[in-house]
This record gives sequence, structure tokens and C-alpha cells, in this order.
Amino acid sequence: MPTLLIQNGRVISPADALDAPLDVLVEDGVIRSLAPAGQTPAGAPADEVIDARGLVVSPGFIDIHVHLREPGGEVSETLETGLAAAVAGGFTAVCPMPNTRPVMDRPESVRWQIERAREIGLARVYPIAAVTLGSEGEALADLPSLAAAGAVAFSDDGKPVKTAGLVRAALEITRGLGAPLIEHCEDSSLSAGGVVNAGPVADQLGVKGIPRSSEEVCLARDLVLAAETGAHLHVAHLSTARSVEMVRAARAGGVQVTAEVTPHHFTLTDEALLRYGTSAQMNPPLRTERDVEAILGALADGTIDAIATDHAPHAPELKARPLGDAPFGVMGLETAFGLAMTYLVHTGRISLAGLIRLLSVNPASIIRRPGGRIQLGGPADLTLFDPNCERTYSVAESRSRSRNSPFDGWKLKGAVAATVIAGRVAYRSASAPRETGHTR
Ligand SMILES: [Zn+2]
Ligand SMILES: [Zn+2]
Repeated sequence: MPTLLIQNGRVISPADALDAPLDVLVEDGVIRSLAPAGQTPAGAPADEVIDARGLVVSPGFIDIHVHLREPGGEVSETLETGLAAAVAGGFTAVCPMPNTRPVMDRPESVRWQIERAREIGLARVYPIAAVTLGSEGEALADLPSLAAAGAVAFSDDGKPVKTAGLVRAALEITRGLGAPLIEHCEDSSLSAGGVVNAGPVADQLGVKGIPRSSEEVCLARDLVLAAETGAHLHVAHLSTARSVEMVRAARAGGVQVTAEVTPHHFTLTDEALLRYGTSAQMNPPLRTERDVEAILGALADGTIDAIATDHAPHAPELKARPLGDAPFGVMGLETAFGLAMTYLVHTGRISLAGLIRLLSVNPASIIRRPGGRIQLGGPADLTLFDPNCERTYSVAESRSRSRNSPFDGWKLKGAVAATVIAGRVAYRSASAPRETGHTR
């Protein structure tokens, strides 16, 4: 039974009311003891020791929205490269969206993905399956069989579930399954042909705009149906100030709704298009200062439950096409934590415990899977990070197969030092404290 001892770290686990210097002893993938730092019980030697002095030991980060492109899009990412990027970003688990080719709408595909991830042995994978067959919005997929195969949620991400009738039928089923329906809120009759947020930047670039109403109209429809069915609706990549208000009001009215935002939507505005071109082109598009401010407020007051990356790698040749022809999306797995630390924690908007809620505690509870805790007998999924380490992100060094990030060259304060999954060190930063040796 291999053992791992993480010594002298500041262990923060908001769900366990923990914030203290502790030694964490892991045996057989499970947390065996939590002792005051330096006082690890005698008779507990370890095969491997990590000196975590100066580091925070957090429950492992969970990204509930990624695109890993396999099968069908291996030119941009594979499960292997995507999961390597995930662990480098501090994520112990990720939820891939089903818009692969073919779309993940069959139990066999879900089982294949789980099995393949197990072989790769990096981050855990909790698949999201399609709501409708082929995500085409015509007929519901067999949601109970997909859940039985291991799907933790359902989404037609890339687009919304096409009709209100299908959303309601799906919610009636997902309510019984205890799984969220995740909506990419967009009304294509308002957004079709759009490239960036509707406004002066779109005008300046001479491209069609995507109005905020495209997101808000679809969100309104879905909130009404979540209220009517009592089922759990999770809003993906929320991007506007009014969407924030709508989620806040719905929740106050008793609707079971949760929401996520991406790091790019709380750090950038549509002005970024002028600077980064297609590397800042995504859907929903970057909005304006007013929207970013509303999102920052909602992250601080708990209206937004989770930070999710919407990691959307696209091979360089695809992103080299002109604005409008290039596919939507940006990478996010390796920059999410550094951006959140720099723009949320170091600016004083949220606490470290608040950030851990957004990256670990709440994502685990949204998908109803273990995680988000550091407790005796619980799985040893841990993210070790240095809150003050400054690092310049270099996309050339990314573990992803793609390079579409607007954050290349950004100096970020806060860096992942190690990622531990079921007691195994799945990632260790080159500049992190090295293993101190064996105690036996
Ligand atoms: Zn989406
Ligand atoms: Zn997405």
C-alpha cells in the first residue's frame, strides 16, 4: 500500500471548516490522517514525501466544462493531451462536453471515454452526455441509459437544446436521475452570423454582432421550465449582467439553478478582439466592462457557483482563418487558476476559501460526485498551489495540442505546484519543491 505524506502545507477545505497547517498522510488513495504540521504520528512513514511549506493544500479542482475533442477532433486535442493540460492546471477531474464526432449520445461512448481516461491515468473524467440524439434537437437521447453508463450531466453544448418542448421533456427525466441539465444559452435567430459582442467593437471590425439578448432570451425560457419542473438547471458560461440578475432572481424564487463563468469572461472584454484576434473569439463572446463587473460581483456574492474553463482547443491552422471563419473557443485549463488568483483573490474580491468553493466544492456538488472535501477516509484528490508565485504563461509550453490562448505572455500571480489524484502525484511543477526523499 503506497503512502504519501504532504508536510507543512496550509490545508484549506471550506466544506470541512479547515484552515490550518497540517500534515496529510495518504494511504492507498485515501486520506488516513490529518495531524498538526510537524507532528505526523509515529509509525506512519511514507514512501513519498512532499514538503508543502509555503503551499496551500486544497481539495482537488474540478472543471465541469471542457472540450477534449476525441473522437473526431484529434488534430486539436486528444483525451491524453487534454488530461495532461488538466493536471498541469491543478484539475483532478474534468467533465468533457459531448460535442465530439460522433456526438456522445450512446452509453457505449460514455463507457469508452471513462475506460480510456482510466488507461491514461491522469485526471478523472466525468462525462457529460448529449440531451438529444446527435445534439440535433430532434429526439431525446436515452438519458437513463447514459446516466447508468456514467454520464454525470446532460448538455447539447455548442448550442442550446433546440425547443422548449425538448427542454421540458429532458428536465422531467433528469429530475428523476438527479443530474443537471446544462444549457448553452443562445437563441440562434438573434445570434446567427454573429462573430463578437454586438457593439462598437463589432462595428469597428466590420462583423456582425451577437447581442446579449441571444443569451438572455434562451436563459429566460430555461428558467421558466426549471421552475415548472422543479429540476436542476445549470447555466454554462454565463456572460451578461442581465443573466446574472435573472439567475439571482430565479434562485431567490426557489428555482433550482446553478451557474458557471469562465476565466475569460471575468478578465477580458470585447476590446480584446482588437488585440488578440481569433484567440479572443469565443461563444458566448466577450462582453463589456459592465458585464465583467456584474460577473465579478456575482462571483463574490455566491450567485455564480463555479468557475469552469470551457477549454476549447482548436488547432493553429483552424484559428489562422480570418475572424468569422475561425472556430469559436479558447483554451483554459492551464490558465484558469492563475487568472482566478490574480484577478479575484489578489484583488481582494474573494478569499482563498471562496476560490476553493468555486473551483472544487461547488463543482463537485453540481455534478453530485465525491470531491471538494479533505476528510479522513475520503479520496486523496488534492491540488497544491503557491498563492504568491509569479509566473509568465507561455502557450508554447502548453500540454494541450492547440495554442489558441489570449493569455500568452500574461504574468499571473498564483501557481499550481502539484496535483494529486487518489494519492498519486499526477503533476508536479518543475519549480515546485522537490520530493524530500524517503523516510524509510
Ligand atoms: Zn457552450
Ligand atoms: Zn463549451
